[in-house]
Amino acid sequence: MNTLYPKLKKINRNWSLFLDRDGVINVRLIDDYVKNREAFVFLPNVRESCAVFSDFFDRIFVVTNQQGVGKGLMSMEQVNDIHQFMVEEIEKVGGRIDRVYVAPYLQSDNNIMRKPSPGMALKAKKEFSEVQFKQSVMVGDSISDMQFGKRLGMVTIFLGNDVNQCRDNNELIDYSFSDLWSFAQTLLTI
Ligand SMILES: [Mg+2]
Repeated sequence: MNTLYPKLKKINRNWSLFLDRDGVINVRLIDDYVKNREAFVFLPNVRESCAVFSDFFDRIFVVTNQQGVGKGLMSMEQVNDIHQFMVEEIEKVGGRIDRVYVAPYLQSDNNIMRKPSPGMALKAKKEFSEVQFKQSVMVGDSISDMQFGKRLGMVTIFLGNDVNQCRDNNELIDYSFSDLWSFAQTLLTI
């Protein structure tokens, strides 16, 4: 029996999955925002990973901060169009995203919807009352994603190869993987 991932072994279909977007699903642009579907580039094997997740989780959400909207650099219509494209592409390979939550606010707004504040998760629970945060996994590539997840009692997965980030934020990160695909492969093997 593999005992490396005890918290992941508890996962069953009652669990919910929360995914960050930039740097998890698509290539994160440095000092810029993804403003249209042409600029939205899937990371390798992400669509296939979502197909795997669809077999494990009854609810899969994307929770994304997009302060480029608050800055006036793009509109919510543009963001919604990107997400329509993202969801359709994932569905083409048998994956599923049940709902996408967007926080368009500026960091300086201190809005409860913006991660690491819990607003987007609370909205998901309001819309999907069966969601239990203690039976949820948060996957992200930022420490603010880990704070968001931990504050709600979720299992947190940090993506990336930054060992210093992991070591310095030990209490916020349950497990780390190089990318979404290696997390999906681990779910299949434990
Ligand atoms: Mg990110």
